[in-house]
Amino acid sequence: MNPSKLIGGIALALAATAAHAQYPTKPVTIVVPFAAGGPTDTVARSIGQAMEKSLGTNVIVENKPGAGGTIGVADVARAPADGYRILIHHIGMATAPSLYRKLPFDPLKDLEYVGLINDVPMTLLVRNTLPVNSVKELIAYTKTNKDKMTLANAGIGAASHLCGLLFQQAIETDLTTVPYKGTAPAITDLIGGQVDILCDQTTNTTEQIKGGKVKALALTAPKRLESLKDLPTSAEAGLPGFELSIWHGMYAPKGTPKPVMDKLVVALQTALKDPALNKRFSDLGATTVTADKQTPDALAKHLKAEIDKWSPIIKKAGVYAD
Ligand code: ASP
Repeated sequence: MNPSKLIGGIALALAATAAHAQYPTKPVTIVVPFAAGGPTDTVARSIGQAMEKSLGTNVIVENKPGAGGTIGVADVARAPADGYRILIHHIGMATAPSLYRKLPFDPLKDLEYVGLINDVPMTLLVRNTLPVNSVKELIAYTKTNKDKMTLANAGIGAASHLCGLLFQQAIETDLTTVPYKGTAPAITDLIGGQVDILCDQTTNTTEQIKGGKVKALALTAPKRLESLKDLPTSAEAGLPGFELSIWHGMYAPKGTPKPVMDKLVVALQTALKDPALNKRFSDLGATTVTADKQTPDALAKHLKAEIDKWSPIIKKAGVYAD
């Protein structure tokens, strides 16, 4: 090989190693694949703020909504693998491969895993003006009014979409769905009475329920939440199989150098120990995962297991997007 080329190559490699060792030297952006103001956004902003100290730089949240979260994931999968553009996403990462015929990324090949973050149950909500106050009344009302009723969601593959699918299966009724770019705009329309039903994470709904802006009929968890004590579980409300817990994880583009990944992992783990962050999560019904799950390996294993779990359920539901 030409000696000057070799020296040039070595110099470049040394410069890259030094840059990785100094990471981060500028703000880090967390991409959220849904609209601002929704539950994924809330989780990302809380985590981002809590990671700033350990990273020693600002963490900015950027919303890249659309197509049930897949546009935002594709954005990060294609971003430079330097740790400056990372992603927070939920269970939708595991359901997208079964729901989308043409997915612009492979969750098992195109990303590095930082760690799991938290688990969040969902709430079944109706607009305040809908004349029902329980799941039983909603089922009865749906029997005669089904054709004029609407179920909002944040697009195919969103948690609200999955929850809506499970709800329709549980009540054996198909409803007209209205997709949004996130559940922040969907809940605004639910409050305004433009849509009838929405299933959304407690991270977005707790304050709206407590403020009396929407009616909550059931919690998709086996146990009641301390933060929403009066809300019955699905089983208590008469729909025992209607359970869904939404997990969040943090990702980086494939090929992000190990020293950079190590810093992101430490920053995430440090953030998840922050008492203020944990208090905020628990006030919003979210549970931080245990320390053994806050690792790249745990997220990789969980993602694979969830892809395998949801594939037959989605096939059975027969729902696809192009
Ligand atoms: N809760 C939304 C969902 O249904 C996403 C969001 O707006 O954060 O997936």
